[in-house]
Amino acid sequence: MSEKKTFEHVIHERWCKGCNICVAFCPKQVLTLRNVKVFAERPDLCIGCRLCEIRCPDFAIEIREKGVMQPKGKDVGDIDFDLKPEAHHD
Ligand code: SF4
Ligand code: SF4
Repeated sequence: MSEKKTFEHVIHERWCKGCNICVAFCPKQVLTLRNVKVFAERPDLCIGCRLCEIRCPDFAIEIREKGVMQPKGKDVGDIDFDLKPEAHHD
């Protein structure tokens, strides 16, 4: 069974000038304009192709994958704090 990936649309409204380019390029009609700003109306249809992100001249839209567990960094408890005595100076 394959899991369906979902995507989050991060919109920087201050940078969006409502030019409609991303709306026109989106192959799934996910995006629309609302009050001259882009809006992800059907985020569930997004396939994560990132055409909107690539085509936006103002870097106003970003696509992030949702629902994927990011691997955690090494736990602090695993760090070896044992400093050798010769590491100290006079
Ligand atoms: S990533 Fe692709 S499918 Fe998703 S909103 Fe952007 S252009 Fe549309
Ligand atoms: S291409 Fe960029 S500036 Fe134009 S409507 Fe889309 S997000 Fe806004």
